[in-house]
Amino acid sequence: MLAASPIFLVADGMGGHAAGEVAAGIAVAELGKLAGTTDLGPDQLLDAIDAANRAILDWSASRPDTAGMGTTLSGVALGRVGGSPHWFVFNVGDSRVYRFDGAALTQVTTDHSEMEELIRAGAITAEQARHHPRRNVVTRSLGTDPAPIADIWVLPAEPGDTFLICSDGLTLEVDDVDMSAVLRAAREPADAAAALVARAIAAGARDNVSAVVVSLPRVAEQTTADVATAPRHRLPDADS
Ligand code: CA
Repeated sequence: MLAASPIFLVADGMGGHAAGEVAAGIAVAELGKLAGTTDLGPDQLLDAIDAANRAILDWSASRPDTAGMGTTLSGVALGRVGGSPHWFVFNVGDSRVYRFDGAALTQVTTDHSEMEELIRAGAITAEQARHHPRRNVVTRSLGTDPAPIADIWVLPAEPGDTFLICSDGLTLEVDDVDMSAVLRAAREPADAAAALVARAIAAGARDNVSAVVVSLPRVAEQTTADVATAPRHRLPDADS
């Protein structure tokens, strides 16, 4: 995870626990180079995602035991388009970005996963996907050649905008209605990420659970996102 204005993200590693953590860490380090950037543009963001992909490939090329390691990458960055503040919501893989309007959550990103394809084809329901044996299979990830195409959405930034970024360890355990309820109940965005992770653990989380909540202060002239929370992260138990 990374929460370093203007960039906020979750990277959920894959390819064996240790190698996955390395891949996620490389992605965080590469994207972290954007921390403190003013007037970030979408091309700069996409270049950083490409650099992260290359860095993961370079690492695993010299270490056969980490072959195939990769990571998801989902997040938001606050930048500028045409002189005005905009969010860049980005995604590779099956971690997610939701927008929260104070009442309900709307998923902004589209999962790159077998489950998403099966749901779109009408072969299974979203509820069946939660318990499907192949629920962890992603169709795009960082650490691949050719490089994955990152989805990017450009949204005008308004005071009060709130986003939830999370790994599938959260969304497999807690549905959108319950996640909305947690966000509404949290007095501060500060509390929301911790409460969401706690909810996933209580539900018996079988996977990494990562959540970052980003909120743009309700002050008109404020242009820098402020994460009022330390991002929350929980690794799976050693025997899970
Ligand atoms: Ca996962």
